[in-house]
Amino acid sequence: MISIAIDGPSGAGKSTIAKEIAGQKGYIYVDTGAMYRAIGLYMYRQGIDTKDGNSVSPKLKEVSLDLKYIDGEQKIYLNGEDVSHDIRLPEMSMAASNVSAIKEVREFLLDVQRGFAQKNNIIMDGRDIGTVILPNADVKIFLTASPDIRAQRRYKELIEKGMKTTYEEVKADLIKRDENDTNRPIAPLKQADDAVLVDSSNLTQQETVDKIISIIGEKTENVL
Ligand code: C5P
Repeated sequence: MISIAIDGPSGAGKSTIAKEIAGQKGYIYVDTGAMYRAIGLYMYRQGIDTKDGNSVSPKLKEVSLDLKYIDGEQKIYLNGEDVSHDIRLPEMSMAASNVSAIKEVREFLLDVQRGFAQKNNIIMDGRDIGTVILPNADVKIFLTASPDIRAQRRYKELIEKGMKTTYEEVKADLIKRDENDTNRPIAPLKQADDAVLVDSSNLTQQETVDKIISIIGEKTENVL
């Protein structure tokens, strides 16, 4: 099985790029951020403080997550309900970031994520895929861009989805999440030693896709 890990900070364009590459290559795209968001959403709906591990951990046994692919789109189901839209509500970004710092949450998702890579050719995006989840991935990319560019892209994406927010809110959320994700003690956001750094600040989406496809081609030459 081929596995490709794409990590990087919020709003670097990981999911857009990974989806496009998965389509071209016929791989399954796994958006691990969606799983943290679904757990964040569950806790939020239950009125639980998403930062409090002692309240969140015992509730994990009530959570069942499922991914389905409909016309190539990943849909995420929380206890049987399609929550693909609700997990994108702006307040779910911080809820996801909060629950993602809890050890039991990361352990809960580790097996689910590894299970996907055993059964499929995959491209998986997140924060710790190359460092923790798939340390033996065939290709590891660390995709980043400047905070301003990332905030602009994320703002545009949210507005296009009909969400109510402002550029300032999006940028502040992004910086706070970068800080949380980089400084948490467990599985922090970090470039794996053997990951290729791609900075998309001055690249178009197509240029970024082309660059990553060419890196995948080089790295998997002997595997395919
Ligand atoms: O990628 P996305 O922005 O949807 O992820 C939401 C949050 O989930 C991130 O800010 C991060 O805290 C967390 N996350 C993580 N590890 C991953 C994927 C996402 O900690 N592999």
